[in-house]
Amino acid sequence: MLRYGVQAAFLLLTVFIGYRFHQFVLHFEVAGHPFVEKPPSVDAFLPIAGFMSFKYFLFTGIIEPMHPAAFVMFAAITGVSFLMKKGFCGWICPIGTVSQYLWMAGERVFGRNFRIEKYTDMALRSAKYMLMALFILLIGFAMAPNMMVLFFLSDYYKAADVKTMKFFTELSSAAMWFLIIAGGLSLIYKNVWCRYLCPYGALLGLLSSASPVKIKRDNGRCRHCSACTANCPGLLDVEKSDVVNSPECFGCLTCVSRCPEPGALAVTVRAGKGRRPFSPFIYPAILIVVFYLVIGAAMLGGKWHSQLPYEEYRRIIPASAELGHP
Ligand code: SF4
Ligand code: SF4
Repeated sequence: MLRYGVQAAFLLLTVFIGYRFHQFVLHFEVAGHPFVEKPPSVDAFLPIAGFMSFKYFLFTGIIEPMHPAAFVMFAAITGVSFLMKKGFCGWICPIGTVSQYLWMAGERVFGRNFRIEKYTDMALRSAKYMLMALFILLIGFAMAPNMMVLFFLSDYYKAADVKTMKFFTELSSAAMWFLIIAGGLSLIYKNVWCRYLCPYGALLGLLSSASPVKIKRDNGRCRHCSACTANCPGLLDVEKSDVVNSPECFGCLTCVSRCPEPGALAVTVRAGKGRRPFSPFIYPAILIVVFYLVIGAAMLGGKWHSQLPYEEYRRIIPASAELGHP
């Protein structure tokens, strides 16, 4: 229940940020519409820009100033995934939350969710890793920092946040059909987008494999009731694992909360050669505190707000339709 509350709060926050950003854009498109400050956190929806900016920072020590929040969000999300498993996906990501609402609705309507056959599921899961590898190849290897500077200075990049918003507010028929099909499949199968298609989730899953935090099962206390396996939204066979190392585990702690045997299943942190359990309530607290510490440090360091001047927005936003699609 705690997780559902946290997820709902972040989803509402995202909707509010989206609304504020829409108002910001309208100021430049509709005569007389009042000015609203741009909420920098919309740049969380520019993960590719964040990745490019991250590489640029590694090579130059400079955080590009057009969408600095994209860099900060990328650093916060990858950092927190490395420290606290893929908890960002399970507790904060609004897309993960919507995916979850869809399969929960499907469960109510059809009485259950369906499962894709094991080997087909494995083959489909490789799609997100291929997408991730493509981005790493294109940005991590093929794109030199001096090429990035040219891209950062382009109108297309400056308006990337506006273009991303318009992708949703002015859906093309192809995008609409994609969302209808993905949404329909998400009613039947759990977490279709996150499990099969999200390259960001693939990256976070790999990072989270190295995380010191893991779910651990105590075989001595386990009564093999299968409640953990039956309720795992990541479709993991928790009952057969001593330590859950899978990149599909997104730290939702459903398995821990559903386990009827005290101490049989716990969230643990590596301690020397063993693992030390800690309260499942501390897990989301650390996750959220670390996430906001990174954002807070960026705000204090003046690396949160875009340096793009008002006049540039006034020039670019009304013409953003001619800049192609994200
Ligand atoms: S193993 Fe536990 S924490 Fe991980 S996804 Fe499954 S239910 Fe959630
Ligand atoms: S829910 Fe707990 S007791 Fe039941 S199989 Fe899983 S770890 Fe064992």
